[in-house]
Amino acid sequence: MDWTVAKLVEATGGRLLQGNPDLPVTGISTDTRLMQPGSCFVALPGERYDGHRFIMDALARNATAFIISSARPEGCLPAPDKVSVIEVQDTLYALGKLAGYWRRQHLIPVVGITGSNGKTSTKEMVGAILSVRHRVLKNEGNFNNLIGVPLTLLSLQPHHEVAVVEMGINVPGEMARLVEMSDPTVGLITNIYPAHLEGLHSMEQILQEKSKLWMALKEGALAVVNRDDERLVRVAGTLKARTITYSLQDPSARVKLAGEVEMREGWTTFPLLLGTERISVRLPVLGLHQVQNAIAAAAVAWGMGESPETVARGLSSYQPVKQRMQMHHLRDGRVVIDDSYNANPGSTFAAVQAACTASAGKPLVVVLGEMRELGPESARLHWELGQKIAALGVARLITLGEMGKEIVRGAEEGGMPAAACHHAQDHEEILDFLKANRVANEWVLVKGSRAMAMERVVEGILAE
Ligand code: ATP
Ligand code: MG
Repeated sequence: MDWTVAKLVEATGGRLLQGNPDLPVTGISTDTRLMQPGSCFVALPGERYDGHRFIMDALARNATAFIISSARPEGCLPAPDKVSVIEVQDTLYALGKLAGYWRRQHLIPVVGITGSNGKTSTKEMVGAILSVRHRVLKNEGNFNNLIGVPLTLLSLQPHHEVAVVEMGINVPGEMARLVEMSDPTVGLITNIYPAHLEGLHSMEQILQEKSKLWMALKEGALAVVNRDDERLVRVAGTLKARTITYSLQDPSARVKLAGEVEMREGWTTFPLLLGTERISVRLPVLGLHQVQNAIAAAAVAWGMGESPETVARGLSSYQPVKQRMQMHHLRDGRVVIDDSYNANPGSTFAAVQAACTASAGKPLVVVLGEMRELGPESARLHWELGQKIAALGVARLITLGEMGKEIVRGAEEGGMPAAACHHAQDHEEILDFLKANRVANEWVLVKGSRAMAMERVVEGILAE
């Protein structure tokens, strides 16, 4: 299918202010810098820049159609009558409507993936497995919100055989919109942890929001259920859709870990049972939480009809995502694990645990930036994390950010010697401290919320 002005109007339910309905439109764009001639420019409201301010740029780039808001700033209407102009109430909604329309022109399976942690990693793993036999569309990087998801769907092409769509939400109502435009045939909720607690106030609310992915599944669709998450199991019991369960520990799950997990040299290997078939998985990334993601991805793909061999082959070809447990082996024998992409209590503890296992007795230094967006419980959650880290026996703990002090307090109260804990003022102090206290063969794990830019610590170590 190709777009025409008439189809844009039909999809968005907007009002054609000017232009010829029969005119073809080559694609949809929200960014004039990336725009192809002949496209429709959707003027999105932005935090810093209003898309309506770029209408002249879009004209210069030969946009042929415009979707603009009835609440647009004054004086930004494109003048030339050769272009088509569609007015809608809310251009972000309109973008979602366009995506939903376009998706429904492509009768292919769509895998929706949401959850508190591991969405991107799991999305990439599902992509790796399905790509063994199919042409797969998936979101670029972390392009998972009300802009990223529609733009992903709008890039569906006739050759795509399946789409894997990560869906991230911050506030109530977003999931319903993402699900409406994606019309998923498979839904995975990886887990529910306290993340984004600022917009979504309680765990129950997070659960309710994320569950909308499953609630929307039609008959014949597949819900993929993490048996290790009680809340998710409870919701899954109420679904009409077919379900498939997976687990790290529950023997009643269909897809499950079937023995020891080994981590060595950046590879994690483990046996996996898919129904009654046993495969050996070799995953090029570290961490038990990545095993969980891999099992989830295996359940998705196997549930969609991929063979156990395909699952094993796909997972071994998985390309680790940058700044997610990315390993750097230094020449002097030290190892840096860069998990600086983002952090919340669940993912941070999982990362520290994985680093403990993988470092296998070598001294482990944990460098943590504070975890943002945790709302009023933030101090307690940081303190608790410190307590739990103390129990793992890490050699040293270094923190950054006001809340980092709470992690240190928790760790010290959990029994970690004060001399092993250090709260730093800035990235440079962390680097100096690391240098001054370095021991042979140590492992350094670096993690923190995106806003803490903890990758600067990794870059600093690598630059030495
Ligand atoms: P975002 O909400 O930023 O999109 P995401 O859900 O896409 O995050 P990833 O990007 O895959 O998740 O991983 C983010 C962080 O969560 C990483 O630091 C990773 O170590 C950790 N993580 C990944 N999978 C899990 C899991 N199953 N359980 C706990 N932590 C995890
Ligand atoms: Mg993500």
